[in-house]
Formats: sequence, C-alpha cells, structure tokens
Amino acid sequence: MDFALSEEQTLIFDMAKGFGEENIAPHAQKWESEGSIPKELWPQLAELGLGGIYVSEEYGGSGLSRLDATLVFEALAMACPSVGSFLSIHNMCGGMIDKFGSEETKQKWLPELCSMNKVFSYCLTEPGSGSDAAALKTRAERTNDGYVLNGTKAFISGGSYSDAYVCMVRTGEDGPKGISTVVVEDGADGLSFGALEKKMGWLSQPTSQVQFDDCKVPADNLIGEEGKGFSYAMAGLDGGRLNISAGALGGAQKALDLTVQYMSERKAFGKSINQFQALQFRLAEYETKLQAARTFLRQAAWKLDNGDHDATKFCAMAKLMVTDAAFDVANGCLQLHGGYGYLADYGIEKIVRDLRVHQILEGTNEIMRLIISRQMIST
Ligand SMILES: Cc1cc2nc3c(=O)[nH]c(=O)nc-3n(C[C@H](O)[C@H](O)[C@H](O)COP(=O)(O)OP(=O)(O)OC[C@H]3O[C@@H](n4cnc5c(N)ncnc54)[C@H](O)[C@@H]3O)c2cc1C
Repeated sequence: MDFALSEEQTLIFDMAKGFGEENIAPHAQKWESEGSIPKELWPQLAELGLGGIYVSEEYGGSGLSRLDATLVFEALAMACPSVGSFLSIHNMCGGMIDKFGSEETKQKWLPELCSMNKVFSYCLTEPGSGSDAAALKTRAERTNDGYVLNGTKAFISGGSYSDAYVCMVRTGEDGPKGISTVVVEDGADGLSFGALEKKMGWLSQPTSQVQFDDCKVPADNLIGEEGKGFSYAMAGLDGGRLNISAGALGGAQKALDLTVQYMSERKAFGKSINQFQALQFRLAEYETKLQAARTFLRQAAWKLDNGDHDATKFCAMAKLMVTDAAFDVANGCLQLHGGYGYLADYGIEKIVRDLRVHQILEGTNEIMRLIISRQMIST
C-alpha cells in the first residue's frame, strides 16, 4: 500500500494549481459579479489536457485516471470552486460519451469537447424530479429523421451558455429502463432556455432551465443504446461525485490556508489570535478533517479506477463525508475571521457560499446515505 502521489500526479496537481492561481483566482470575484465565465478560458484549460481528462487519447483526451482528476479539481477549486466544478461537469459529459458512445459518436463529439471548442452541460434534473431522477418526464419521440423532444430540464449548469447538452430523456416505458441519452446542440430547432437562476453560490456559472418544444435532434445524436441512458447517467455521476468532493476539499483547504495566515496577523487581547489554545485546537480539528477527507476521497477514486464492485458505495460515502467536512471547515474558517470573514475582500464568504451546493447536487447527501445503506442491506 502506498499513499504517496506519483511524480506525475504531483506535477498534475501543481500544474492545475499554478494555472488557477494565475488565470482564475485574480478574476474569480469579477466573474461572480458578471455571472459568467469568459469562454476564452476553456481552450486554455484544454491546452493543458483538462478538456477531456479521462477521454481516450485517440479522441484528443488525456486518458488520465479518476484519481488524477480529483487532483485537478482539488487544485482548481483552490482558485475558485465554481469554475472548477463547471469544468468537472463538462468532463463528466466527456467521460460518458467516451465510455458508452459508438465509434461514430465519439468521432463526432469528443475532439471538440476535448479542445473545449464546444462546452458541454449535463441535463438530468427536471422541475418535478431531482433526487428521484428516474421519474423524469422529458419525452423523445422517434421519427424518420431522429427524435423530437418535449419537456423541461431544471437547474442546468451552463444552461443558455454551453454549446451542447447531454440530456437524459424518456424514449420508452416509465422508470429507469425507458430512459435514453441524447446530445442536443445549441441552436437546435425548438431548444430554448429559462431565465438565469439567482443563486447563493457558484455565481460565475449561468444556471437555467433548458426547454424542449418539439426540439428536433438527429438520430445519430443518441449516445449508446436506447433504454440505457439512466445507467449511463448514474455511471457518469460516480466520477462526478468524486470531482464535486475534490472541489469542496480544494475550497476548504484554501479557506484553511487563508485562516492560518490571518490568525497569525490578527491581534486581540494583546496577542495574535493563533495564541489562544481554543482556536489552535480548532485549526488542529480542521486540518485532521481535511486530511482524512483527502485520504478517503483518493481511496474511493482508486476503487472506481479499479472497477471494484463497491466503487459506487465508496463514491457516495466520499461525497457525503468530504462535502460535509469541507463545508464545516470553510464555515468554521469564516468564524475564525470574525467580522472580516463576512466581507468579500477576505475570500472566505465566497468559498462558504460556493461549497454549500456541493452537499446538494449530483445527488444530495441524503441520497448518498440511501445509496450506501441500500448496498449494505442488500449484501
Ligand atoms: C446550483 C445548482 C446546479 C445544478 N446543476 C445541475 C446540472 O448541471 N444538471 C442537473 O441535471 N442537475 C443539476 N442540479 C440539480 C441537483 O442535482 C438537484 O437539485 C438535486 O439532485 C436535488 O434534487 P431536488 O432539488 O429536486 O430536491 P428533491 O429531490 O426535491 O429533494 C428535497 C429534499 O428531500 C430529500 N430527499 C428526497 N428524496 C429522499 C429520500 N428518498 N430519502 C431521504 N431524503 C430524500 C433531499 O435530500 C432534499 O433534502 C443543480 C442544482 C443546483 C442547486
């Protein structure tokens, strides 16, 4: 057993961290207030191989592991959890197409996905179905030319911003077996978007409903086989949950680093506040929580990379444990900054706002408990 990162993995982490410090962190607050991330950023990230992190190299991807991907998203989130997580969703789409798409499908979408000339969004949630995703209602009727879609997707990260949408739609019976996955390109006839959602965090990402009104999609936009879309969506989420956890971890680590520095500078009652033992113990707790979360996250990623039978359970446990720990640490760091933690200039309140949604999306942490306990009682 070896808990150390390889030399290559250390380089991957350092590269993503360096890129984030130089090209993301200085602009993160501005992009928040503008409610959008400049599209020019994506090809720069793609040049580093981060547009298709686990897409095969023959289609322009980097062919890296899920563990490698967690390093990238932890490092990018240290600059901005919102930007890093947006890239993670794009990569989740790439992973699904690479794993389940036909040869033609991969040729069609992956090169532009990997170069990030096309940015992809993932559309599963609907206004009436979030946690119970298999109850989705958006219908795709087969026609001579392809599919006609009718319905609405909700909460879509990149809605009205992305170039292509990987959509889970109903082509058959009720329940998970009637669901298929199709790609809908921006500009498709009958595709429109709701108003931008006003949110607590992840403010630099546009979020909106994606609406289909007799939206026409060519037959070869189907990913894999009809009726398998729900299993593709869930497989995508195993890795997605690792990345969402890694993003939470990176955000919390940044908050803790800022706090250690701040506590050495801030004085109260005649001494630096890092001299109060009660506060030193808080730092010790936060450090322990984050190191434990990191080790557990990397174990879950390693299980997914190895195709272990209990990888889904470990991805769910990692998401539950890491995102809860990360939010608690970030929120505690805000407290240790006193009133200054509440001010935007100190960089902590944004992290707290951004990290809150990591406990909610890609399956709420209640649903993680459901996945974990179901697997425990079924064996
Ligand atoms: C900022 C943001 C971005 C998002 N981006 C995307 C995206 O890009 N693509 C996408 O498809 N979706 C996206 N989502 C949607 C997200 O995945 C859902 O919000 C999430 O899955 C929860 O669904 P819901 O909001 O409908 O809550 P509900 O399913 O209505 O849940 C409400 C509450 O009930 C609990 N609950 C539900 N069922 C159970 C149960 N069986 N046992 C115990 N508790 C239960 C939940 O945990 C929650 O606390 C995004 C959401 C947000 C906020």
